[in-house]
Amino acid sequence: MNENDAFTEMDPLTIKKARRHISQNEGLIFEKSLPGKRGMELPPLDVPSIDPAKTLGEFARHGITDFPEVSEIEVIRHFTRLSTWNYAIDLGMYPLGSCTMKYNPRVNEFVARLEGLATEHPLQPDEVSQGCLRVIHDLQKCLLEITGMDAATLEPVAGAQGELTGLLLIRSYLESKGNPREKVLIPDSAHGTNPASVVIAGYEVQNIKSNERGQIDIAHFREFVTDEVAALMITNPSTLGVYEENIAEIAEILHARGALLYMDGANMNALAGVTRPGDFGVDVMHLNLHKTFSTPHGGGGPGAGPVTVKKILEPFLPVPVVKETNGRFALDYDRPKSIGRVRAYCGNFGVLLRALAYTLAYGPRIRQATEDAVLNANYIRKHLEDLYDLPYNLPSMHEVVFSDARQRKHGVNTMDIAKRLIDYGFHPYTTAFPLIVPGALMIEPTESESKEECDLFIDAMRSIAAEAETNPEIVKTAPHATRVGRLDEVAAARKPILRWRPRQNQDAQKAAASRGEQAPVVPTA
Ligand SMILES: *Cc1c(COP(=O)(O)O)cnc(C)c1O
Repeated sequence: MNENDAFTEMDPLTIKKARRHISQNEGLIFEKSLPGKRGMELPPLDVPSIDPAKTLGEFARHGITDFPEVSEIEVIRHFTRLSTWNYAIDLGMYPLGSCTMKYNPRVNEFVARLEGLATEHPLQPDEVSQGCLRVIHDLQKCLLEITGMDAATLEPVAGAQGELTGLLLIRSYLESKGNPREKVLIPDSAHGTNPASVVIAGYEVQNIKSNERGQIDIAHFREFVTDEVAALMITNPSTLGVYEENIAEIAEILHARGALLYMDGANMNALAGVTRPGDFGVDVMHLNLHKTFSTPHGGGGPGAGPVTVKKILEPFLPVPVVKETNGRFALDYDRPKSIGRVRAYCGNFGVLLRALAYTLAYGPRIRQATEDAVLNANYIRKHLEDLYDLPYNLPSMHEVVFSDARQRKHGVNTMDIAKRLIDYGFHPYTTAFPLIVPGALMIEPTESESKEECDLFIDAMRSIAAEAETNPEIVKTAPHATRVGRLDEVAAARKPILRWRPRQNQDAQKAAASRGEQAPVVPTA
């Protein structure tokens, strides 16, 4: 672990004192351990004691060793302090492009915690799960209305799992026509999960180069669409944040050759309420509820990647499907053509609930959220395009992609700018993605941000552009205002420290202390 720059300037004693303060570097919980400390005390047994080894056998002998021994308040303070180190959407703007870190209204959390919903068990019989089944049913209806499609599954729990599900639906459908075909076409402006999903679904990826406007070249595209092609998988708007202008014609070309159109709808927050993929020829698509429909997904938290399809794909949807008969809901497993389950139970129900609360709160006004997201991205673009290079000059949708071409002349790259942004109090934007833009700065403010917050972000970015010219060193060595300075990311990936060995470390610390040095923490792999 690198030390905060400020720390390395101090003498060891000052560091030791500084470390005691709660706002300074929090040590490891193992460092607080003292033999015999307890979090809680159980009353003396009032039943006969038993030998755990007799009932648990081997397990009883594998007790946890070297566990930190700390008091309750030490545990609470330790984790509370650590939690204050996190950057969070509740603290400030999170302009990660491609991630859509929008704010999740508190009322959605309230709804997800309602006792009758939060305490339901997924194995309860349908008769006593009517409310939950209705949530699934109603959310499907909303998503079908928004996407212009005919049927849906809410089972997949991530965008990537939605992709795989959608591709398996395509495969089953084509198989039922006699030939699953071999290839799936993917433009180079697609999200990275797309080719991965295609390979897992047993198809070969054929890459299509975008033209200089970030669009599919129609004449060129026609040549690619042969009888071997199962589908085109297109991210729209693409990872360049631009809309595919010829999408309807592309759908026609595919359909004429018996191929299908898959749309990666993770960027649906640029389209919802304005246009519907079902209306411009899309056959199957997924949505990221943890992007477009609130529930930010920091820390790898739960998500949902529903798939909506046209009628022709409906028989193949995963089981179970929620069926409504005369106002009663039931899970239908009797679907002989189904691709089977893709997830236990009905997916990440809590995320579905939040999405329903979010969608119902907006209703048709979801269009306003979309327009605000697009407006914010274009507002930021307008106020930065004189200082940052804009490689694809098309109207931006929900995000804007610059490159570091101008800053690189001063030896400053996108990663340096992103790190410096931390000093200005912002989470970094997405760096070096999409791959077709060398040195990309991918910025997505979302509709959650006010003009004031966008202005602060713009100020920070303009200030960093000026620093890159006058004082590139300060950018290249950023961040400076954080507890930990710039980390060695290669070492972190190549030599991750996965295990803590307190005994050895405590010995090492004692030895260091006897030499009057700051204790080295964290060797071992
Ligand atoms: C985020 C994203 C995905 C993948 O979604 P996960 O939930 O992370 O699996 C796919 N495509 C696009 C365009 C995305 O932005």
